[in-house]
Amino acid sequence: MTSLKRSITILGSTGSIGTNTLDVVTHLGGRDAFDVVALTGAGNIELLARQAKAHGAKLAVTADESQYVALRDLLSGTGIEIAAGETGLLEAASAQADVVMAAIVGTAGLAPTLAAARRGADIALANKECLVSAGDLFVSAVRQGGGRLLPVDSEHNAIFQVLEENQRHAIERVILTASGGPFRTFTRAQMADVTMETARAHPNWSMGLKISIDSASMFNKALEMIEAMHLFGLTPSQVEVIVHPQSIIHSMVGYTDGSILAQLGSPDMRHAIGYALEYPRRAHLPVERLDFARLARLDFEAPDEIRFPALRLAKLAMTRGGVQGAVLNGAKEVALEAFIAGETGFLTMAEITEAVMEELAHLPQAGSMDDVFAADLEARHAAKRHLA
Ligand code: NAD
Ligand code: MG
Repeated sequence: MTSLKRSITILGSTGSIGTNTLDVVTHLGGRDAFDVVALTGAGNIELLARQAKAHGAKLAVTADESQYVALRDLLSGTGIEIAAGETGLLEAASAQADVVMAAIVGTAGLAPTLAAARRGADIALANKECLVSAGDLFVSAVRQGGGRLLPVDSEHNAIFQVLEENQRHAIERVILTASGGPFRTFTRAQMADVTMETARAHPNWSMGLKISIDSASMFNKALEMIEAMHLFGLTPSQVEVIVHPQSIIHSMVGYTDGSILAQLGSPDMRHAIGYALEYPRRAHLPVERLDFARLARLDFEAPDEIRFPALRLAKLAMTRGGVQGAVLNGAKEVALEAFIAGETGFLTMAEITEAVMEELAHLPQAGSMDDVFAADLEARHAAKRHLA
């Protein structure tokens, strides 16, 4: 049985999640299964243009306004519309499409994803920053728009798969698994002078640069704890983390009867992407099948908040609530960019984030999206001051 043809927009199509999404779209039937409405990128316009032509997109948008003319030249004669900058991203998000894959990295993804949510699209959410920064406001925007919120982050997708909706009252906890990243066994002294190149080399997952470094510092897990709290309506103490170096169990839900339901698979984002795009149907996906005899073992370790202070900062942001997620994320993004540019050390990222969180602990609760954007901006300014 073939499912109905649907339309899709991919915000951030040139990134790791974006290219994997187009790969899944092709596998699920390509143009027979999906109309590709809009694709967006930031730097790589050659790839963006190639994708737009190959998938017959109606609109191609580069976030980088200075590349508008170059993109126009690459796509001239194709009939594909083009746009650029923030307004271009909003145009892409607002164009009619059944499902929008939110795969822009960082806070830059918030405004366009919000626009898509408000117009009622189903949101396949890879951009965790939407939930980290805007939390319940983002969830309500999706709800009010009338679309579905489909988690793509592998841990949250796993929880989504094993969370029994009619047993919500019986959920005791969710357990997010973490690979531990490339520095799982490092001492703090060893971590002090690691380089960007070693930090970006994730042992199991192939991902974009920023999330790979966030995985090494466990800021990625910190963001995911906040993300899980908002997505699944949990209290801070219901969100746990366990280090599981093989990344085979993608996360678990614990119920009041002591049962734990887990989702397992090979570490391949195409699984979570395909599950979100086809939900509630399970489609055939081209991911490697698990061979338990070959795996032989699954290991677990308690997370270490001394070596990975990001986890402690996440708990602080979760218990404080309000705009503190936006503060944590805004400060972290500035520190991360400085680390990538070679301007600050690996451990400094958490130190700066913590200092900014203390400085901005007084910020008011999030009454509106404007409060969220203001807190994000203030955190960025404060982080830059600490870096200077
Ligand atoms: P990436 O860096 O590979 O790709 C990011 C995409 O966003 C690219 O298309 C890029 O052109 C675009 N972009 C970058 N800066 C932009 C800006 N300022 N404005 C508009 N567009 C911009 O990142 P990724 O690894 O694909 O991650 C995307 C999102 O998904 C992130 O929020 C990440 O945390 C989340 N995520 C990724 C993975 C993964 O496996 N890669 C897993 C879980 C969650
Ligand atoms: Mg994840």
